[in-house]
Amino acid sequence: MDTSKRNVTHPDLSENALAVLRKRYLKKNERGEPIEEPIDMFRRVASNIAEAERLFPHPLGDGATETDRETRVAYWRVRFLELMTSRKFMPNSPTLMNAGRELQQLSACFVLPVEDSIDGIYDTLKHQAVIHKSGGGTGFGFSRLRPKNDFVKSTMGVSSGPVSFMAVFDSSTEHVKQGGTRRGANMGILRVDHPDIEEFITCKNDNDKVNNFNISVAITDAFMEAVEVDGDFDLVNPRNGEVARTIRARDLFAKIVEGAHRNGEPGVVFIDRINDHNPTPQCEIESTNPCSEAHLPAYDSCNLGSINLERFVGGDETGRPIVYWDSLADAVRVAVRFLDDVVEVNRYPLPEIEEMSKGNRRIGLGVMGFADVLIKLGLPYDSEEGIAFAEGVMKFVDDEAWEASRALAEERGVMPHFRGSLHEERGDRVRNATVTTIAPTGTISIIAGCSGGIEPLFAVAFTRHQAGMEMPDVNPEFVRVAKERGFFSEDLMNGVAKHGSVRDQNTFPDVPEDVRRVWVTAQDISPEFHVSMQAAFQKHTSMGISKTINLPHDAAPADVEDAYKLAYETGCKGIAVYRDGSRDAQVLSTGAMR
Ligand code: UDP
Repeated sequence: MDTSKRNVTHPDLSENALAVLRKRYLKKNERGEPIEEPIDMFRRVASNIAEAERLFPHPLGDGATETDRETRVAYWRVRFLELMTSRKFMPNSPTLMNAGRELQQLSACFVLPVEDSIDGIYDTLKHQAVIHKSGGGTGFGFSRLRPKNDFVKSTMGVSSGPVSFMAVFDSSTEHVKQGGTRRGANMGILRVDHPDIEEFITCKNDNDKVNNFNISVAITDAFMEAVEVDGDFDLVNPRNGEVARTIRARDLFAKIVEGAHRNGEPGVVFIDRINDHNPTPQCEIESTNPCSEAHLPAYDSCNLGSINLERFVGGDETGRPIVYWDSLADAVRVAVRFLDDVVEVNRYPLPEIEEMSKGNRRIGLGVMGFADVLIKLGLPYDSEEGIAFAEGVMKFVDDEAWEASRALAEERGVMPHFRGSLHEERGDRVRNATVTTIAPTGTISIIAGCSGGIEPLFAVAFTRHQAGMEMPDVNPEFVRVAKERGFFSEDLMNGVAKHGSVRDQNTFPDVPEDVRRVWVTAQDISPEFHVSMQAAFQKHTSMGISKTINLPHDAAPADVEDAYKLAYETGCKGIAVYRDGSRDAQVLSTGAMR
């Protein structure tokens, strides 16, 4: 039985959640004061999304009366509301902010094309601004642009190249505030065989340029093979297909690794693998969204939503922790319906995006609260059991999500771009090109009060500097366990806040061994386990995964290289590493870290 709170009028939100909602999500008056309560926001979202139910045929067909239709909309309104107020599921931020309001732009992720022409580039620049204004993030593949100093016929001059144009998109971002709530985020991608690849790899070296972009190199299988055999690799001009230069693949790989070691940029995406799994091969994938979990063709969008796994773990009669699988299955199915409804009532920033998004109907259901669940179940993140659980739970979510998509296809029809899709080839009649994607859940995990995405805890405790005082802020569940198991003390809590982690036995001899194993933080976990966890989730996720592979400050470039190779070998679709302390401004830090 599910013991989570059912009271839909008073969602139990934390102080942090309330603060975030008031600051950025709730409707405000002209003086900037919130004019809705969190429950009003959830009602607004549930009512707006349930309106989609009116647009589809009623199961009773022509026999359905007006009352039948109203009842149906009301039923789903309540189901959607319950899903959010119980904190079992949250849609991505734009849906929470914009549903039922003037903007009605509900998606977090977009990819725009960058054509090799001034008209094309500046059309896209405008489209970027329109999307940022509405709260979405944008990804761009710059690989079709001719390289720097290449021939430009119309002016008999020379081109300025992808890196220079990326700076234009970056600068424009600076000036367009995102819906008054957050600044736009971008992903810039360049293929590894583009002649300007070296300039691209190093363009973020100084931590002070193109700061509104994350960058990733689109790595091909041919490149990985050349690295493997220490072979040569051709850089090709996209304008005419001619080989511009031939380089040693290992030298280029070393430069990518060096950048990632220096400050986490660039990440890489394995573009051939992404396209091999692209369910709509009619439209090639050139880029991802800013946090790289959504792999989209040009003009496609994706609306995300995440299941809070923590809500589905409780105790059996003896108090032993168990997963409420039936309840999880039910939530996944309702969430998939919710997201398919979002596709319908979304207001798209451009007609091209509307056509592509409604044609592919990509949705990205993910999970959050995963680290919390492992702790409740007593499974260390960095253990074979932890990884096996990850694979099992994601397979369950993914299978249920596809079941839900098949059921929706029966009810509403297959996705319009079904013809020519991999789904058609497999004879699988589904309503959505993709169903699962694992987002970072940066803000919605705060609203839901759980750990972010599939990341381990960042710290068991940290020191909060507030009003001139230093206060330990300890994970409340850890405090509860410490009291229950009898090792609680103020001193200990201060010590934990200073270190962030409790792994070290010498520092924390009073903390029992099993507690030290289970309360593991991102920095305690080896890069191999981080990558293995990502690979476990990727096995059962339609699109990609947002995950950081943490490395200690003193990690060597060879460690980064090993992580990149392991990610490729284990079927990941990309990788982003972060060496502790390698960027000047680190948002979260614990006492023990630089
Ligand atoms: N995103 C964005 N700007 C931001 C944060 C996120 O445009 O400041 C987009 C981006 O495409 C990212 C996606 O939203 O990949 C999901 O991010 P996250 O899960 O952290 O968003 P949340 O729904 O928690 O706000």
